[in-house]
This record gives sequence, C-alpha cells and structure tokens, in this order.
Amino acid sequence: MTGAVNPTADNADLALTDPLTGLGNSRRFHGKIARLIAERADDPAPFAIGIIDLDGFKPINDLFGRKAGDDILQQAAMRLHAAMDQHSTVTRIGADEFAFLLPMTFSEAAAGERARMLIEVLSAPYDIGERTARLSASVGCSLYFLYSEEPAELITRAETALYHAKRSGRGRVVVYTQEMEEAQKRATRIEQALRRAVSAGEVEPHFQPIVDLETRRIIGFEALARWTDKDLGVVSPGSFIPIAEERGIIGPLAQLLLRKAIAAAQKWPDELFLSFNLSPSQLVDQNTGRAVLSLLERTGFDPRRLEIEITETGVMGDPASAEAIIHDFRNEGIRIALDDFGTGQSSLGRLREFRFDKLKIDRAFVASMLDDRPSEHIVRAILAMSEGLGMTTVAEGIENDEQAQMLLGLGCAGGQGYHFGRPADAATTLDALRRDYAAAAVAAQ
Ligand code: C2E
Ligand code: MG
Ligand code: MG
Repeated sequence: MTGAVNPTADNADLALTDPLTGLGNSRRFHGKIARLIAERADDPAPFAIGIIDLDGFKPINDLFGRKAGDDILQQAAMRLHAAMDQHSTVTRIGADEFAFLLPMTFSEAAAGERARMLIEVLSAPYDIGERTARLSASVGCSLYFLYSEEPAELITRAETALYHAKRSGRGRVVVYTQEMEEAQKRATRIEQALRRAVSAGEVEPHFQPIVDLETRRIIGFEALARWTDKDLGVVSPGSFIPIAEERGIIGPLAQLLLRKAIAAAQKWPDELFLSFNLSPSQLVDQNTGRAVLSLLERTGFDPRRLEIEITETGVMGDPASAEAIIHDFRNEGIRIALDDFGTGQSSLGRLREFRFDKLKIDRAFVASMLDDRPSEHIVRAILAMSEGLGMTTVAEGIENDEQAQMLLGLGCAGGQGYHFGRPADAATTLDALRRDYAAAAVAAQ
C-alpha cells in the first residue's frame, strides 16, 4: 500500500478503492461498517469509528500546487495505514477526509486516545520536493452501541463530533456522547419553538439601566432578549441566541427585538440611549446594516440615541465585512460599543484597526476586583487605555456599592448591574422612569 492500486485488483475492488492513495473509499467504509454491525448482531460489544479532517490542507494545496497536495495525501494515507492494528481499517472518504474503523475499541475514552495518536502521527512534517509542510488534523468519533443502528447514523454522529472538534480549534478530538445527542435534540426543539415564537412576535426585549457612576442617574438602557415558551418554559438568551445564530434565525429575531426596543425607547426621555446587541454572525452579513438603518428611518428614531454592542469574536470572523457595517453605522451617528471586553480572544490590535466609542468591561473582572489584585490591575489598565484611545467605559455586572465606588475612583464613567437595576420589561421600565423623572422634577422645584 504505497499510493499505487493493486494491479491484480478486479473491478469490484476498484470501485471500492481510492485511486490516489490505494486506501478504501467511502463505499468500502460503509460496507465495512455494515458488515461489522451484522457480525455484532448477537454480541453487545461496541466498536468505534472516526472521521479525520486535515486542518489547513486547502491553503497548502493552493500554495504549493496540486502535485504537492497529492503527495501530502499519499503520505498521510501511508502514515494512517501504518498506524492501524490488524483489526482496524482506514479509508479515504473525501478530498482531505479519512475515516477509520476500530472494531476492538470499546469505550469513548479509548476511541479518543486512538484518535489523538493519529493526530500526532499526522502532525509530523511532510516532504514536498525540497520543502516541508506541516498540517494538523481534527477528528470526530462515534461508538456503536445499539443493534438497530444504520451505518449512516453512526457516520452522521462522527460528522457532528467532527464539526464540534473543528469549531473548538485545530488538532482536537471530539467523541460523540449521549450528552451531545441530548444537546442536539434540545437544540432542535429550541430551534423549532423559536422559529414559531419569532413569527408570532413572542420574544421580548427587556431593559437594564446603565448609569453615570458619579451622579447615579440613568443614561441609557441595554436591551436584553427574553423568551418564555409555553412548553420549554423560560429559555435564557445564553441558550437561544447561539442556536438562532447557528440555524439562521438571528436576522429575523434581531429585527423583531430592535423594532420592539425602539418602540419602547421612543417613550423614554430623549436624552436616554438604547444599547442593542448584535451577534457575531450578523457582522458577516451585509443585510444587517441595511436592516438596522432602514428600521431607524421607518421609525424616525434618532441614530445618535442608538448604541450597537458587538464582541471581539464579531469583528474577527470577517474583519472587512464587520468594518463596512460599522463604518455605515458610525456614518449615521450610531455609536459602537465593544462588549465583554477582557475575556475571550481579546486582542489589543483590534482596538487599532477598529474605532469603538465605548468599552464595556466584562463582569468577570468586576466580580473579582475587590479581592483580587490582578483583576484590579487589569481594570486599571483597561481604563487607562480606553481613556488614551478616546473611548468611554462602562463596567458590567456591578452588584454592590463597594464595586461601584472603586470603579468610580479608578475613573470608570458608566456602570451597569443588579446594584442599579435588573433587566425589566418595557412597561415596568417606563413606569420606573416616570417615577424617577417625577421625583427629579419635584426635587428641582
Ligand atoms: P451581555 O450583552 O454581556 O449582557 C449582559 C448580561 O449580564 C445579561 O445577561 C445581564 O442580565 C447580565 N447581568 C447584568 N447585570 C448583572 C449582574 O449584576 N450580575 C450578573 N451576574 N449578571 C448581570 P443575559 O440577559 O442572560 O444575556 C446574556 C448574553 O446574551 C448577553 O450578554 C448577550 O451577549 C446575549 N444577548 C442577550 N440579548 C441579546 C440580543 O437581543 N441579541 C444578541 N445578539 N445577543 C443577546
Ligand atoms: Mg451586551
Ligand atoms: Mg456584556
């Protein structure tokens, strides 16, 4: 097995062989699984399969040419073949995808272990002519436990696991588990219920006050999505927003929420702003900008009262697209806030490339600031930097007065958190504002 097809192979064999690497192809893989399932009909022993996807193969192929790409695939095939034991098989099932079958691997842990070993084998440098190239690989595995399963189901699960592996970074292994199956089912239920709720207009924005830390007066509100389904109960935005993003419902959902949020904000005093979150995937989509701007036009809401909160992940996905959307917003007078600053894949470089009007300091720092010196130093550094760059700051997640005092002392202008108010629906928010403003009018007399 060195990349050449066995010359004595008959036609039936050829139909099951990948001509480039001499490994079996995806038909052979399916056939092997089906045979093993049949063999195990009376035997409860599980077995494992896995799908390997070479990370970064396509750019190498484009950069070094097709011949080099073929060389790499042949070398990868040889290494994988050599790494199999006498019971196991590896096949090539796609351009840069291989699949393996491990009949004697009985647990999720053992499958993960084998997969990690294969990634290591694939990570050694490849010779391509005079040069060498390096690749990594991601693997998704699934185990056969039930008698009733079809090969296709097992493969779909390995593909789902592979998808999760690739999403979590390069060189990772994910084994499909019962919990993933449950999570997948729950996500599908949420998706279906959410589609219904969005068309029925049943998702509501709630509003959390943002205050001036010095005067403690409300300067604006952040809109936060709230949804209660009649069967699922309260579903938190932390669960349904990512599902809406993944499954293409975020556009109509955001449109609904922004429309409702603007309608609420139009009843507030003019000096209060509305802050609205946009999801990362929306900054890749040029329709987002148009949708927001046309909504402003239709409602007559002053763009200078609108702030858009985005996260660093949002600008990273497709920086050019995000830049274009942000540019259009700022041209109209909309302010841009960088949300959850200091967590995730923060990059200070981002602050040079993009201009933000406001930085929101993540609540993780605020929570630990009082009894943790490093957090305090990080907050100090963020405040100094944002002042230097001409941005204002809001600290998130303020839960007590000590935190508020300390942040004010460090020079933070704005605050948000349960200490000043929890998110509340439009009517409650309006009532509270009326009381506040009436009290202020009395005090001023
Ligand atoms: P975020 O934009 O950072 O929103 C702040 C989150 O912190 C909110 O959680 C809020 O309820 C919570 N919070 C506020 N003050 C405190 C506090 O003092 N202590 C603690 N422990 N938490 C506090 P929520 O409403 O569950 O939203 C979670 C995330 O979901 C938001 O984080 C945002 O990323 C996303 N999200 C919510 N609504 C929307 C929306 O309409 N569109 C988009 N794209 N994302 C949304
Ligand atoms: Mg936010
Ligand atoms: Mg935040």
